[in-house]
Amino acid sequence: MTQAQDNLAARTDSLDRSSPDANEPSAGRIDFMPGVRKALADAPLQRAVSLATLKKTDVRNASFAKLKHAEDIRTLAARIKQHTLDHLDRYLEQFVANVERLGGVVHFAETGADANAIICRIARDNGSRLCVKAKSMTTEETHLNAALEKIGVQTVETDLGEFIVQIDHDRPSHIVTPIIHKDRFTVARAMHRELGVPYTEDPTELTQHARTHLRDIFRRADLGVTGVNFAIADTGTICLCTNEGNGRLCTTRPKVHVALMGIEKVIPKFTDLPVFLKMLARSSTGQPLTVYTSLITGPRKPHDPDGPEQLHVVILDAGRTGILAQEEYREVLRCIRCGACLNGCPVYRKIGGHAYQSTYPGPIGKLVTPLLKGLEPYADLPQASSLCGVCREVCPVRIDIPEILVKLRRDEVDRKIVGPLHRLAFQLAAWTFAAPWRYRLAQRMMRFFLGLHAADGYTSSLPLKSATRVRDVAVPPGPSFRSRWVAGLKDDV
Ligand code: SF4
Repeated sequence: MTQAQDNLAARTDSLDRSSPDANEPSAGRIDFMPGVRKALADAPLQRAVSLATLKKTDVRNASFAKLKHAEDIRTLAARIKQHTLDHLDRYLEQFVANVERLGGVVHFAETGADANAIICRIARDNGSRLCVKAKSMTTEETHLNAALEKIGVQTVETDLGEFIVQIDHDRPSHIVTPIIHKDRFTVARAMHRELGVPYTEDPTELTQHARTHLRDIFRRADLGVTGVNFAIADTGTICLCTNEGNGRLCTTRPKVHVALMGIEKVIPKFTDLPVFLKMLARSSTGQPLTVYTSLITGPRKPHDPDGPEQLHVVILDAGRTGILAQEEYREVLRCIRCGACLNGCPVYRKIGGHAYQSTYPGPIGKLVTPLLKGLEPYADLPQASSLCGVCREVCPVRIDIPEILVKLRRDEVDRKIVGPLHRLAFQLAAWTFAAPWRYRLAQRMMRFFLGLHAADGYTSSLPLKSATRVRDVAVPPGPSFRSRWVAGLKDDV
């Protein structure tokens, strides 16, 4: 082992990358606001996240504009996913039977802890000491790294962004671009400090350092853990979409490959795959396809030049069947984790991913996290949206995120999760909107109060302090639309 490897091993031993959810209380509400305030005061973070997400949204839009029948393909992708979820038992059974026919071993895990226990057992049975990981948000969800480290298996992230997050003792802040919140200077400092390489801010040189470092780790690794983008029922194939080639090294070099997937990753037929491949990369990065699309059908066969001796597929529930059972929320499981809704979201752009305090940030995280882990602790998440609808416009599988957010807010009211003041405010609003004269009166009062301390058409001082904490509120200019409309009608007469 080199000094840099020793260094990294020591660091990863003590590192629990699960921080957002590791801090999560088993009961009680997670306070979303301190993280939000911290992010709102962090101008470099906002600049980095805004620049990256706006660029991604632009390339996504340009790529979709070039794709013939893009809207029809989105509809088809949504229908295939919904059909699969509606008949998930049948397709899961078919997938399992085919993986086993090909020589793979399938395990079912009810909880994240069960999944970790299964993977740790596989590692122990095979005497594994060094695990390489690629492409798995699900392992973030189960906090697999900490579990493997606990039994003495050094675990190294090999996606470049994830690797940097790991050596910098940080957490991913985006489901596709984990270091969207970091600039190259932070990366340069982390690599110099943790790997002992010469300091450089040149992205090509930094990538080369990571590559050299990871090559040796790949050479020595005896366990490979990956996620699954699509699990194809009629062939038992696992599809992995990556851009760096590390996924293929994780699935071919170590003698044991473990693929961890949520139950929702199944699609019915191999011929359905192109529909999703057309959607996934375009929505994520604007690419027509990811650079590597790997199709894994069973462990190494006698005539294969490479591949693992064992292939284990761990199928995770961890709250997903609970979502499946609720028809009005089932469509959330259509998500293919492309990240487009994060890139388009004005809230995500302002606060980045860490403020959500969950493995899955952004609009989809606001649905998945409370549905998987409980609405009580994560009650703030469905509220953290302006309901502008951009997420719905960009979602390649047409998940109606704003509609589901409203339903979750309804549940919060029904289950009395929101506080009495919150409920009172909305009761008052409902009462005001129920009669035109009350609405008109409220409008006049609002103009009056907003104008009291206004300067240059804006006020930064309202009795409700939170309304002006991070922005000034505009005072509506001139006569209202309503009064001009009424005046116009009189003139016409
Ligand atoms: S909800 Fe839609 S847009 Fe957001 S990550 Fe999932 S598939 Fe992509």
